[in-house]
Amino acid sequence: MFVTIYDIAQYLGVTEHNGEEYARVRLPMLGGCNGCGATLACYNMYPTYSGYVKCLDCVVSGFASVEEAIEHMFPTKPKTVVVTRHKALVEYLKEIGLADDTCQVIEHATPKDVKGKVVVGVLPLRLAALAVEVIEVPMDIPAELRGVELNIEQVREFAGQPVTYKVEVKL
Ligand SMILES: [Zn+2]
Repeated sequence: MFVTIYDIAQYLGVTEHNGEEYARVRLPMLGGCNGCGATLACYNMYPTYSGYVKCLDCVVSGFASVEEAIEHMFPTKPKTVVVTRHKALVEYLKEIGLADDTCQVIEHATPKDVKGKVVVGVLPLRLAALAVEVIEVPMDIPAELRGVELNIEQVREFAGQPVTYKVEVKL
């Protein structure tokens, strides 16, 4: 048995099954079966892996559970991992919205750490190629302060505009 749009809406906390509530949770309330063209409402509309909605007679690749459906229909943003040894930089990244308290912060990255993630920091290219993207905050540090642990005021002063890189392996 597959889940219907109605099941998903309920799971997402919809109690009043109306258009406004469905719009809020980004679900269709009405649709047409991609197989036979029948008009469907939330309670007999089956989302599928193909991305189309189908009727009970036509549905083949529906979702067995609401969790499965939600994971497929609303892919979550890739997780962010911050690679740095500098605490003040992490603090600064939070200030400018590039990191939050849920971000993993690591000093040294392994392939497993960065694969499929948004990475904030500096990575060797072979690791950068595994990440979804790499965001670097360029630091214009005066010569006399190189290698010195910076405080948050200094990071604010020396940090430039963040730059996002997408590194691909050319085959
Ligand atoms: Zn159908």
